[in-house]
Amino acid sequence: MSVLKSEIVFYANGSGSEVWQQLANRAPGEGLACPLCGRVFQHKNNFLKHYKTHTGEKPFACIYCSFRTIQKVNLKTHMRNIHNVF
Ligand SMILES: [Zn+2]
Ligand SMILES: [Zn+2]
Repeated sequence: MSVLKSEIVFYANGSGSEVWQQLANRAPGEGLACPLCGRVFQHKNNFLKHYKTHTGEKPFACIYCSFRTIQKVNLKTHMRNIHNVF
C-alpha cells in the first residue's frame, strides 16, 4: 500500500468534497494516509471518520464570518460578543 505524495498535499489543501473525489479515484487496495497525523487507513469510511476528528464536525456556523462550533450556545455567545447580535 502506498499513498502518492501529491495526494497527501491534495488532502491537506482540499475541501471535503475534493477529499471524497480523491478517495473514489484511488487504486484498489491502496491505503489512505491522513495528511494531518500520518495514520494509514484501508477503508475510506474509516479515513473520513478519522479525518473529521481533525477538521471537526461543527454544524453551527456563523452567518457573518467563518466561525463554526459544535455547540449552539457557543454560536450564540459568538454572535453576541463579536457581531452584537441577539
Ligand atoms: Zn489524522
Ligand atoms: Zn461570526
